Amino acid sequence: MKPLVNISHAREKKDVYEKIIKDEACPFCVDFSKKRESFVYHNKPALVQGKHWVVTENFNPYKGAKHHLMFVHRRHIVSFTELTPAALKEFLDITKKLEKDLSLPAGVFLFRFGDTDYTGGSVSHLHAHYVLGTKKRKDSEPLLLYAGYKTKK
Ligand SMILES: [Zn+2]
Repeated sequence: MKPLVNISHAREKKDVYEKIIKDEACPFCVDFSKKRESFVYHNKPALVQGKHWVVTENFNPYKGAKHHLMFVHRRHIVSFTELTPAALKEFLDITKKLEKDLSLPAGVFLFRFGDTDYTGGSVSHLHAHYVLGTKKRKDSEPLLLYAGYKTKK
């Protein structure tokens, strides 16, 4: 069986990833499958505790991001075919509320699901990253997201 966490894709926080591998657990299932006051692996508070989703700050935000939120599906699913209309509606409702509550002017969503050898993620459990950088100015540069792999030239 393929490990539940692909440590080779982890950018930092190696100690947390090593504990996850030792525990042989899907960290998102452990931390987010039901409502908890605090998490086992994750070290940021939940911003939203929905029926289908938990929203929290990423514990290892992309450099330069003003916001880097993670939307984690509570149940362990690894593809969109497993996503229910009710979960999709809740995702939309949460996003609308956060857009208003956090006065988000824009943003980028990146969904990760399935084989981590394609996604560059560390878990196959379906989740989304919401990222907002700064507004483009003379002194800004692209904020880069990891979106898997390409063949070297
Ligand atoms: Zn899981």
